[in-house]
Parts: sequence; C-alpha cells; structure tokens
Amino acid sequence: MIDTRTTSPIWHPFSQHKLEATFKKIVRTDGSYLIDEDGRSILDAISSWWVVTHGHRHPSITEAIRCASERYDQIIFAEYTHEPAEELARGLIALAPSNMAHVFYSDSGSTSVEVALKMALGFFHNRGAPRSRVIVMEHGYHGDTIGTMSAGERGVFNAAYAPLLFNVDTIPFPEPGSEQKTLDALEQFCRSSNAAALLIEPLVLGAGGMKMYPAHVLTEFRRITEHYGTLLIADEVMTGWGRTGSLLACDQLDILPDILCLSKGITGGALPLAATLCTAEIFDAHLSDDRRRTFFHSSSYTANPIACAAAVANLKVWRDEPVAERIQAVTKIHCEQLARFSSDARFANIRQQGTIAALDLTADTQGYLSEVGPRLRAFFRQRDVLIRPLGNVIYLMPPYCVTEADLCRAYSAIDEAADFIKRTAL
Ligand SMILES: *Cc1c(COP(=O)(O)O)cnc(C)c1O
Repeated sequence: MIDTRTTSPIWHPFSQHKLEATFKKIVRTDGSYLIDEDGRSILDAISSWWVVTHGHRHPSITEAIRCASERYDQIIFAEYTHEPAEELARGLIALAPSNMAHVFYSDSGSTSVEVALKMALGFFHNRGAPRSRVIVMEHGYHGDTIGTMSAGERGVFNAAYAPLLFNVDTIPFPEPGSEQKTLDALEQFCRSSNAAALLIEPLVLGAGGMKMYPAHVLTEFRRITEHYGTLLIADEVMTGWGRTGSLLACDQLDILPDILCLSKGITGGALPLAATLCTAEIFDAHLSDDRRRTFFHSSSYTANPIACAAAVANLKVWRDEPVAERIQAVTKIHCEQLARFSSDARFANIRQQGTIAALDLTADTQGYLSEVGPRLRAFFRQRDVLIRPLGNVIYLMPPYCVTEADLCRAYSAIDEAADFIKRTAL
C-alpha cells in the first residue's frame, strides 16, 4: 500500500488525495485481472478505463511489442516513416468507413479530437471560406485538454477553467421521444454559415453517464450536416474496437463521418496511441504549394513504432481470432443478467449497447459528486471487482475475454452493493 501523504509524491488523476490517500500497487496484469501486491486478483470490469479490449497482455500483442522494441524506439515522424506506421495506416483505412483516406497519428484520445477540430477548421480556412463554430451534444465528453473540455459538458470538472474554454453550440441529448428537438436544434445551428463541424460520440456518451441513443438519430445527424456542408466528426475513442457490438459504432448504419477519432482500444489497450482519420477532401484542402496551408500539428511521440506495432498486432487479433463471437457472448450475458434488475425499484434506466451495460442506482443524491459513488467503489473494492460508478450510474465494460462466471460475479456485486447503500444510507 502506497500512501501519498508520506511515501509517494504522485498526484493521481481524478483523485481527491485528502479523502483517498492510499493506493494499492498492482504488480501484474493478466486477461481480465489486475493482480495486487497482496496477491489478490481483481476483476477489471471496466477494462482499465475502457482501453483493454481482448484482455490484459494478449499474447500476440505482447509479443509484437517485444519484437518491435528490439528494432525501434521513437523515430521522428516528419522527414521519415516506418513500417509499423505504414502497415497500421493501411489496416485502419481498410477497416474504416469507405470514405476515410488519410491517417494522422497522435498519442491520446484528447489529442485525436484536438487534431480533428484543427483539421475541420483548417479545411474551411484553406478553402478561403472560414468557419469556426463547433456543434456538440449535451453530456458529451471528448477529453481533458482545454480544447476538448470546451467541446464537452460543462460542470464541476471544468468550472475552474471555464474562462479559458471557447464557446460551442450544444444540441440537447436525444431523449427517447424528443429526438426531433435535437434534430431541429442541429439544423438551426448548421444553418448558420459558421458551423464547421458537429462533434459527437456515436450511440453511447461514455463519461457523460453511459447515455445511449438510437442509430437512426445518427443517420439524421449525417443527413443534416451533409446538407449544410458541416463536417461530421465521429469521436469513437470509446465506442470503437467492438464496444458497441460492431467494430465501430458508425458501422451499425454505414454512417460516413468526415473525420474519425480512434484511440483507447487501438492497441488492444497495451500502449498509448491515437489516430485521426479523414476524407481525401480534408487532406486535399491542406495540399498546396503554399506552406502556410501545412497541417501544423505534432506530438513528440507521434506514431511511436512500438505502439504502432502493438496496434498492427491488434488488427491481426481482430482478423484471426473469434472476436465477434466473444463480443456476442459478453452481450448475451449482459442481456441475461440485466433482466434480473428489470422490475427492481433500486435501479432505473437499465440499458445496454453491445458490451456496455449501465444502470442508475435510484439513490437520493444524484450527479458525479454524489457520495454514493465513493461508497460504491469501496464496496466493489472489497469484492475484488473494479467498478467505478459515474455518480449513481453503475456500468460494466469488461474485456472480451471475461468469463461468464466472472461477469456474473460483477452483477452479484452490483446487486449486493445496492442493498449495502440502502442499509447504510447516510
Ligand atoms: C476517453 C475519451 C477521450 C479522451 O481520451 P484520452 O486518451 O483519455 O485523452 C475522448 N473521447 C472519448 C469519447 C473518450 O471516451
């Protein structure tokens, strides 16, 4: 056990150190488990913040990392290229929506979205008809940089930085029955000649509370944005790589976005990497004899060869292993297990999309800072299950190798946690 008051100088993410000062050390990862310093196997029911898809340390991804690291370390990605990046780019274009033509690498989901926004504004700027307004969805989340916070839901997470955030146009979340309100708002924003892009998380809004909306709404988003020449940016950082049941959420309706953001599961969760894919039109708008039209963006670790090799290995796993069957198996267990809560007054809004399952605990206090969250986490920790509720929203997003027994154990823990919260109500 590490104590950040005494033995460690580390400042952890999303952690209030006054209230949570001690951290267990994880000494090894394996499949769907984190193994801690006491030798306990903790079920990673949220895929270590949604990155691990096939399971921790998938053998062929681990082997690809080992091999690549014997050949390469970081290589400057201006002036030079390398085979892992080339092979990965070809592979991404092959599996992406048919209009995706170019791949820009970066190193996190946030930067992939920053790149997408810069591509969108650069596109209009370079064509001599500048547009600068970004349309986003209520409850959206796109990262924690200043730009992506600007595009995300405003609240306790970014209140301190609000003076630095740029203004966006926000369409309401398409609640069942009021989808038209969302579409009307979108149309109104798009009608303004300054609407550069609609930035959305397709089908599932992750950090905003695992809020789900139907695919036909997405089709309408595409129709409206296309009509007004507003670019559609699909942030599939979370929804990509099988989470919603299909490889990409966009695949469920053959939606063709103009820009696609990928990260998290791109390496199977083994190493940090991101890619922003775009159409030929967007790339071509930056193609010029005039150097001022260059796409001015880079991170030091752009296209790290070892991370690219891990991602190439991930593509092979998708090609060679029964990943779709594993996803179907997880989906089926979610369906069966969620059914037991369907007429349970302790829970509301039971929902599922592919391998993501979520339900709201009907607690007195709501919202992310609801004290219910930390108490639930402590309960789950005692059960050796890693679940981090978003306020009163409890969700499961396991790696696809999770066993039926383990996933059922996570559901039992949720069942008991609800009783525990009730019993120990403040
Ligand atoms: C996690 C996430 C991001 C940010 O990714 P990071 O790698 O944490 O920067 C962006 N968009 C969505 C939809 C996400 O879920």
